[in-house]
Amino acid sequence: MRGAVLYAPGDVRVEDRPDPTIEEPTDAVIRLAATCVCGSDLWPYRGIEPVNGPSPMGHEYVGIVEEVGRDVHTIKPGQFVVGSFFASDNTCEICRAGYQTSCIHRQPGAPTGAQAQYARIALADGTLVATPDQPDPDLVPGLLAASDVLGTGWFGAVAAGVEPGKTVAVVGDGAVGLLGVLAATQLGAERIIAMSRHEPRQQLAREFGATDIVTERGDEGVARIKDLTDGLGAHSVIEAVGTQESMMQAIRSTRPGGHVGYVGVSHDVRLPGEEMFFSHVHLHGGPAPVRRFLPELIDLVCTRTIDPGKVFDLELPLDEAAEGYRAMDERRAIKTLLRP
Ligand SMILES: [Zn+2]
Repeated sequence: MRGAVLYAPGDVRVEDRPDPTIEEPTDAVIRLAATCVCGSDLWPYRGIEPVNGPSPMGHEYVGIVEEVGRDVHTIKPGQFVVGSFFASDNTCEICRAGYQTSCIHRQPGAPTGAQAQYARIALADGTLVATPDQPDPDLVPGLLAASDVLGTGWFGAVAAGVEPGKTVAVVGDGAVGLLGVLAATQLGAERIIAMSRHEPRQQLAREFGATDIVTERGDEGVARIKDLTDGLGAHSVIEAVGTQESMMQAIRSTRPGGHVGYVGVSHDVRLPGEEMFFSHVHLHGGPAPVRRFLPELIDLVCTRTIDPGKVFDLELPLDEAAEGYRAMDERRAIKTLLRP
């Protein structure tokens, strides 16, 4: 099969790789219908995370089940399935509490890399969710978004306590932040302030339900959020970047008693204890338990209630993955969909 491998920062190659096979009796092998490049793939691509030898890339996937191991009972060959970046048994006490990304049997969801024609999926019964029917082709991008960025934005909104009547601010205008806006809309937020200085992303934020746009960032961004909320700050803030600046922007934009849902992968963030103590802000976040939300998200996509696939503004054949990475790195594309 063909699959993307990162050799060094800036060096992604699509090459012939071994076809994945069933290695554990709980595995499935799927044929990818679509895959994509994640914002978190850009951390090693940019050399901010180390690249330890050639690494198969990709952890977002939808496709058709080709084969299952002998201990897979609910997932069947021929089903169209959506999974997530971590595999989970979906039965342990942590999974049942809705934190499948901390499953006691957690492991990479697609260890052979999902930017490929085929992928091995671990713990198939717990990890994969089948769609009710074979989806129409135009629904595939939305289902692919559910695999990570929609599920992550959704968790950000839930962790931020978004409810009807609340004012929500979203820090970060990548795919996760934009889908955090969509999630906040679906969860009934009254007012949604998207923080973005990029016109095409502002436009998509508005399509997803943003009521206000703030272009300032850092302390000026915080001041604008306060201006828009009677000096109090937002009830709920979704942090979808993962840097020191974005995290402090999120915390300082939140009113006392409010909630920050942080889903940007944290890189060298240090929280000041005394400021946290006096802030009265709730912090919750981490790697999104996408599996918790998948059945609901699949239903919303398949009934055409939401169209999260709009975040894919560049579509390329898998063999052109390197250009897909470059376009996202240079912020020419919000998110690249790859056709295997
Ligand atoms: Zn579990």
